[in-house]
Amino acid sequence: MIKKLATERIWVVCPYCKAKNTIYDDTANCHGVFLKCTRGCKREFELVIKNGKQIIKTVCP
Ligand SMILES: [Zn+2]
Repeated sequence: MIKKLATERIWVVCPYCKAKNTIYDDTANCHGVFLKCTRGCKREFELVIKNGKQIIKTVCP
């Protein structure tokens, strides 16, 4: 496994309204994390990050 240093900080955006909610860095990986859009539509969405990129999952409304 190659350890990568974080070089960039990226905003987590809400998949519904694109509001910037949280910051992750480019080494992040996560799924199964649920966030509530606090700066926009206030809906809940799953945060999925693969290899430092947010995967926008569009959940059926
Ligand atoms: Zn939102």
